[in-house]
Amino acid sequence: MTHQFTELPYGYDSLEPYIDEATMKIHHDKHHKAYFDKFMTAIKDYPELHKKPIENILKDLSKLPENIKPSVTNNGGGFYNHDFFWSILKKNIPFNNASEIGEAIIKKFGNFEDFKEQFSNSALTLFGSGWSWLVYDEKTKKLEIIQTKNQDCPLSIEKIPLLAIDVWEHTYYLKYQNRRAEYIEEFFNIINWEKVEELFVEARD
Ligand code: MN
Repeated sequence: MTHQFTELPYGYDSLEPYIDEATMKIHHDKHHKAYFDKFMTAIKDYPELHKKPIENILKDLSKLPENIKPSVTNNGGGFYNHDFFWSILKKNIPFNNASEIGEAIIKKFGNFEDFKEQFSNSALTLFGSGWSWLVYDEKTKKLEIIQTKNQDCPLSIEKIPLLAIDVWEHTYYLKYQNRRAEYIEEFFNIINWEKVEELFVEARD
C-alpha cells in the first residue's frame, strides 16, 4: 500500500492561536480525508497506480488514462498538497538569514520583508480557491512564487514545492471569516523554516 492517509503530525491545537483547533480538525479529518478517499476511488481499477508514489503520479499527469485524469489531478493533488502543507507548519521557527534558504530568498527578493510582501500578495490576489507557493524551478534552478488553482500541484509543472499557503476558504473561514489578509499575515507565525531549509537543500541536490 503506497498511498496512506496519515494522522496530522502534531496536535490539532498546535498552531493556536493562528490556526484554531476546530479548523485543523475539519481541514485534516474531513477535507484532506475526502481528497484521499476520492483519489483512491479514482485509481481503484489501476493496480500500477497503487504502487506509484503520489509525487510521481502528479509529475506524470499526462501518462494517466483520460477518464481518471481530472479526478486524480484534483483529488490526488488535494491529497499531496495537504500532506505537504502540514509538513511546513510549526510555531516558533523563525526565518534565518544565514540558512541556505535564507540566503537564497534574500538574493532573489532583496530582503525578507520584500519576500513576505510578494508571497502575501500572491496569496491575497489568488481569485477563488487555490494555493500560493514558494518553489524551486528544476529547469532554471531559481526560486519563484507561483499560484495554483484548485488542487493543482507545482510538481506537475516541474517545480519543487518549498513552502505553501492554502487559501481555500476552508483553511481560515471559521476563525477569520472573509478576512483572508489577516490569515495570511498570521500564517507567517507558523512557517517551519527548518523544514523549508531541508526541502531546499534536497531540491538542489
Ligand atoms: Mn485545504
